[in-house]
Amino acid sequence: MKFSVRQKSRGTRFGVLNIENHEIQTPCCSLYSRGGVVPHLTTDVLDSMGSVPSIFHLSLQTTIDQPGIETINQSNYNGIKPFLGLEGFITYLSIQDPGQEVRQGYNEEKSVSVWTPGGRKKVDVNQFKAVLESFKPNMAECLCDTIPASGQTEKRIRKSVDRTLKFLDQCIEEREKTKSLISCNLLGVIEGSSSETQRIRSAKETSQRPVPGFVLEGFNSSVYNWCSLLQKTLEFLPDDKPRLIHGIGSPEEVVLAVECGVDIFDSSYPCQVAERGCALDIKWSRKRFKPELTYLPSTSERLEGELKNSEDSLNELSTSSHQKEIVGGGTSFEINLNHTRYSSDFTSLVSGCTCYCCTNHTRAYVHHLLVTKEMLSKVLLMIHNLYEYCQFFTGIRLSIEEDNFEEFKRNFTESHLL
Ligand SMILES: [Zn+2]
Repeated sequence: MKFSVRQKSRGTRFGVLNIENHEIQTPCCSLYSRGGVVPHLTTDVLDSMGSVPSIFHLSLQTTIDQPGIETINQSNYNGIKPFLGLEGFITYLSIQDPGQEVRQGYNEEKSVSVWTPGGRKKVDVNQFKAVLESFKPNMAECLCDTIPASGQTEKRIRKSVDRTLKFLDQCIEEREKTKSLISCNLLGVIEGSSSETQRIRSAKETSQRPVPGFVLEGFNSSVYNWCSLLQKTLEFLPDDKPRLIHGIGSPEEVVLAVECGVDIFDSSYPCQVAERGCALDIKWSRKRFKPELTYLPSTSERLEGELKNSEDSLNELSTSSHQKEIVGGGTSFEINLNHTRYSSDFTSLVSGCTCYCCTNHTRAYVHHLLVTKEMLSKVLLMIHNLYEYCQFFTGIRLSIEEDNFEEFKRNFTESHLL
C-alpha cells in the first residue's frame, strides 16, 4: 500500500492511494456496509450503478457474528472478499460500525466490546488476529479503545490513548510473527476524544510505529471546536500516509475535515439519510465546475454524463427551492420525501442528477413508496444518495486539483445560506 499527495493547497490534499492494483484518488469515501452488504442494495444493483467507491467498508461489529470467522474458515473461499463476491473492491475492516453510536463503559484492559445483533462480544488481541487471518482484509483498523466523543474525563481519555497504543504494539508484534497477515495493512488509530494534549500525544506516538496509515476515531461535531482539534492533531501525522476518519460525514463536516487534511471518509451518512426517507441534495455547484472540465480530459469524461442535462436545472439548485425543502421537513441537505407536499410533485428527486432513480422516477412516486412502506423506497433513495455523495467527493477532488477549493467551499456555503 502506497499513498502520495499529488496536490496540496493550504490544508487540503489531493492524493492517490495505490493498493492491490487499485489507484484510488482522495479525498473520497468508502462504501459503507452492514454485515457485509450495502444496506438496501443488492450486488446486482451496485453493479448497475457504475461508479461506486472502490473501498468496501466492513465493520467487525456487524460481521463477527454474520458471516463470522467459522463460516468463512469452513467455506472454500480464501477470505471475506471472495466469500462476499467483492473481488472488484479493496476491503477495509473497522472495529465499530461508523453508523452506530459508540457505547460507553464496556472496553476493558485486554479487550474491546462490539455490540452485535446477538449482544455484546469482547474481542481481545488473539481474537482480533483470528479475524484478520480469516477475513484477510486489505486494510484493517487496529483494535482500539474508542470512547464517546464528549463528556469524558481527562483520566479516561488518557487511558483510552494508552490502551490503544498497547493494542497497536501487540497487534504489530502478532502481525510480524504471522505469515498470513503480512499482506494486511494495519492502520494505527488516533484517539484522545476532546483533549488536545491527548490527541497530540496519540498522533505523535502512533506515527512512530510502523503503520501505513491512520484512522481518526472519536471526532464528532458535538465536540466543541472539533475542527480546530482535528487540524492540530493532523499536524503531527506524516504527509505520506492516508488519514481515514469515522463519525464525520455530513457535507458541511466533510468540507471542513477535507480542509484540515483528511483523505478518506465513510459513507454511513447517505445511508442514514435514506433511512429517514430523505433524498440528499448537496448543492455543491455542478455549474461552477463545467468550464474547468475542458482542462481535465481524464476526469471530465467521468463527469460529462452527469453534467450533460444539468445546465437547465442549475439555476433551480441555487434558488429558493432550498428553502422549500426545509419547509418540507428535511435539513438543508435533505429533501424529506415523507412530507405530503411531495404527493403530487412529479419532478425528479434532484434536478440535474442523472442517477437511475432521478432519471426514472419522481418525488411523488418515492413519497408513495414511503407512505405505503415499500422496501423499494429505501432502495431508490440509497441509489440516489450514494450517487450524490460520490459526486460531491468528485467535485471536492476536482477543486483541489485545480487549486480552487476556497471557491468550491464558498459556493457550497452560499448555496446553503440562501
Ligand atoms: Zn439522483
